[in-house]
Amino acid sequence: MSKIVVVGAGAAGLFVAGFLADKGHEVVVFDKNEKAGKKLYITGKGRCNLTNLCPPDEFLANVVRGEKFLRTAIYNFTSYDTVDFFESLGLKTKTERGNRVFPESDKSSDVIRVLKERHCKNVRFKFEKEIASIEKTEEGFVLNSKKDMLFDKVIVATGGKSYKATGSDGAGFRFAKKFGHFVVEPVPALCPIKIKNRFVKKLQGVSLKNVRLTAKTEKRELTFFGEMMFTDEGITGPIVLSLSSNINRAEKVALSLDFKPALTEQQLDARLLRDFEDAKNKEIKSVFRGLFPKAVAEVFENVVKISGDRKVNSITKDERAKIVECIKNFPLEYNGLYDVDAGIVTSGGVELSEINPKTFESKKQSGLYFLGEVLDVDALTGGFNLQICWAIAFTCAKNWQD
Ligand SMILES: Cc1cc2nc3c(=O)[nH]c(=O)nc-3n(C[C@H](O)[C@H](O)[C@H](O)COP(=O)(O)OP(=O)(O)OC[C@H]3O[C@@H](n4cnc5c(N)ncnc54)[C@H](O)[C@@H]3O)c2cc1C
Repeated sequence: MSKIVVVGAGAAGLFVAGFLADKGHEVVVFDKNEKAGKKLYITGKGRCNLTNLCPPDEFLANVVRGEKFLRTAIYNFTSYDTVDFFESLGLKTKTERGNRVFPESDKSSDVIRVLKERHCKNVRFKFEKEIASIEKTEEGFVLNSKKDMLFDKVIVATGGKSYKATGSDGAGFRFAKKFGHFVVEPVPALCPIKIKNRFVKKLQGVSLKNVRLTAKTEKRELTFFGEMMFTDEGITGPIVLSLSSNINRAEKVALSLDFKPALTEQQLDARLLRDFEDAKNKEIKSVFRGLFPKAVAEVFENVVKISGDRKVNSITKDERAKIVECIKNFPLEYNGLYDVDAGIVTSGGVELSEINPKTFESKKQSGLYFLGEVLDVDALTGGFNLQICWAIAFTCAKNWQD
């Protein structure tokens, strides 16, 4: 039986610690925070979207980085296993739109409570204990250069670099580098996008449904359909977050927004003609207001360069074509992503080819393990990122060798 230290009492750390302690190992979990699961607490807007209930292949299609590496773990511990696991701890769950699983209570605190109090009942916790160094000596692993902090094995579950107020500040990347690992540059994922156009400020808070956002990068064109909203300096919302994870390493990005993706240009032109007919003696702004929320309608006038005060019956055929073009290809000037701290997850991290995908042990240093977001894995929203943590942690514990 080993003396194991887990650095990080987040999703991956709590999950692995409980299983290893139940196997009879002496397990200590250190966290710099005063309590466990600070990031878990804010997941799913405080409701914790635990997992996404779908078969493994469908699951893996939502993984942005690390799909091949994660295959074993995701098949080994599926999202159905996650639901069974939490139900067995007494946490009732419910499945909502898009297969998203939440605790029935809608409280992330219940997830943390059952993990810490029930699953980790045999684990020792040390809070407000920041780990600054990990060294390998002949006797074992020494933490913070303290002889009384000597362990046989170390599990690094320190998370990525996003939302660092929750504790994840990239410490795990430093530990990995110290042991000779390559760390793929951490960049934000599931992150708002900055937009250069000055009109964005006027649109702050405006939410759009059923729109299509397209990004062209040096390598590919990506399109997402759904909901988005404007922030003080850019855009966010489900389609923006998904898009960000796919363009976060691109140098050049050209964005465009289609306000009416359900209509072809011809259908949209026909719709405009009908609108024009109904409002022929009115100002064109009344037509724009029928097409968009008020703030967007005002901005649209400027972008399409047709004054809203113009009478509808004065709009030429060419101008109507310009309106159609602008509705279908509204230009948004890409200005990069928000800072890595604003990403829901971090893309990048410990290089996967240097980690055993069945045990999550380092190939550079035996007895050293990396679990969770510290690895170069990330997925889209919908419960996928937590499922990755559960699956990795379960697989690590299951294949643990003394
Ligand atoms: C706002 C938000 C909402 C989210 N919602 C969802 C969701 O609903 N569903 C979903 O699937 N995913 C969601 N995610 C993503 C998910 O929360 C993370 O992918 C997941 O928590 C990562 O778990 P982890 O155990 O790897 O790291 P973390 O949960 O970040 O835990 C790392 C722990 O390590 C500790 N630590 C770090 N460095 C040290 C050190 N040097 N010494 C001691 N302790 C240290 C930290 O204090 C922290 O407690 C969300 C993320 C955010 C930010």
